[in-house]
Amino acid sequence: MFHNRDSIFVREYSALGTPFLKEVPTTPFKTPCTLLQLNRSLAEEIGLQADELSSPMGVEVLAGNAPWPGFNAVASVYCGHQFGVFVPQLGDGRALLIAEVRKGAQYRQLQLKGAGPTPYSRHADGRAVLRSSIREYVASEAMHALGIPTTRALSLTACSDPVFRETTETAAVVCRVSESFLRFGHVEYFAHTGQDEALNHLLTWHIEQHHPEIELGDTEESRAQGLLQWFEWVVKRTAELMAQWQSVGFCHGVMNTDNMSLLGLTIDYGPYGFMDSFHIDHICNHSDEGGRYSYRNQPRLGHWNLYALAQALLTLLRPYKDTVQALLDAYADHFEAKHTALFAKKMGLPAAHGEQTRVHIEQTLKFMHTHGLDFTRFFRSLSALDPHKDATQNLALWQGSPHFCLALGDEAQVDDAREWLSGWCALQTGQSASPIDWQLAIAATNPAMVARNHLLQAAIEQAQQGEYAELNRLCAALSDPYNDQHLPPHYTAAPPSWAKDLVLSCSS
Ligand code: AMP
Ligand code: MG
Repeated sequence: MFHNRDSIFVREYSALGTPFLKEVPTTPFKTPCTLLQLNRSLAEEIGLQADELSSPMGVEVLAGNAPWPGFNAVASVYCGHQFGVFVPQLGDGRALLIAEVRKGAQYRQLQLKGAGPTPYSRHADGRAVLRSSIREYVASEAMHALGIPTTRALSLTACSDPVFRETTETAAVVCRVSESFLRFGHVEYFAHTGQDEALNHLLTWHIEQHHPEIELGDTEESRAQGLLQWFEWVVKRTAELMAQWQSVGFCHGVMNTDNMSLLGLTIDYGPYGFMDSFHIDHICNHSDEGGRYSYRNQPRLGHWNLYALAQALLTLLRPYKDTVQALLDAYADHFEAKHTALFAKKMGLPAAHGEQTRVHIEQTLKFMHTHGLDFTRFFRSLSALDPHKDATQNLALWQGSPHFCLALGDEAQVDDAREWLSGWCALQTGQSASPIDWQLAIAATNPAMVARNHLLQAAIEQAQQGEYAELNRLCAALSDPYNDQHLPPHYTAAPPSWAKDLVLSCSS
């Protein structure tokens, strides 16, 4: 049931059992559930039968009202640093692993978020509200369509059972899909509770499962070298993920170590935000008063989180402390290389200019910050430019872009734009692409739309009234964000003035 002929259900992670996992049944809802979204292409990709998943029995399973056939759901224990403070025990408080599926070499886990309390719920209800579930579902798939590593979303099921937050809301469940939901916090937990053997066991399983290229060997030395190689991979992938977030103006909002994936995936979408008007110190999470996880700080905090992971790993790698430190120190170079490559591509800068390119990227962000330019529209509008023309000609061309976001009445802004364009034109020497190829490349690199808060809010408010047309439209549009041909104009337009008053917090 539920799977195609080319896939099988397995017990690989769940077979680890104690002390990593506890069996916990999902908690059925009292009122009927409705399937709002089923990601048919993802179902197909991982070897599941979409038609069966959307059948009445399938919906019961995706809502957590019935167990996945033949599988006892499990919750895992972890800990973490939340806003810099060590919290000795956390865990899957409202997430339950309900299935593992294998299609040849491809292995995936399915997790329900909001299907009831677990031993790690810490007096909370184990539920998720419709609002935050829509945000997680939409963002997971939007990030995937942008090519940014992320956990995926298979389904969104709503239910009218009440959930009590600042106000009374209703419940929903997202079924998430990932190769792994392991977090830095899992490693921290077994290190900080002195369970070295368990930590070794977990890391061995994880590395064998997800990094077949790494040889752990059977001597102490070869094992340590394998672990170091793995840590190097995590450092690089995390640095690259941070650069990818920066490149689309994405702020995660709650970059605690328990929300950092060991596979370098974006995970746990809460009060995240794709920036509208660019501000380098933008804070998307209202609960983050000090701006620890602001846009500017994200790369630095990625490093801080890796430091916490390294501290935990030293339990096993004490004699290799200097090597661990050196791997951590390489973070800045990994980040810088990816950041420069991504932004250079966004602006169509030829690779040849090295340090000048890096400086121009910095100047671009400064220009955008000074004038509060819309992040997505600014980069998209660059497709109207012609790298073979001068700054004055380009300013005229730029105004023809439907995404043009400068205020022409603002002299200071126009002067700065001219200066910025001169810098940009100077870096176009050696540009070999024809204008049309160049334009296509810019449009294929810079999305016409992202999951902006006000678009999500409109879909949420409709869904809270039992209407899902806007949610469906938004999901469809975000699955192809580079193509503006089929997009309703308000999806690519400047956000309305009320967008900046939207407040998001950790409440979910
Ligand atoms: P977050 O920062 O939102 O990822 O959550 C931090 C921790 O709180 C995680 O261990 C979650 O599982 C847990 N948690 C958050 N909300 C709830 C809830 N409503 N019920 C149970 N646990 C929760
Ligand atoms: Mg979390």
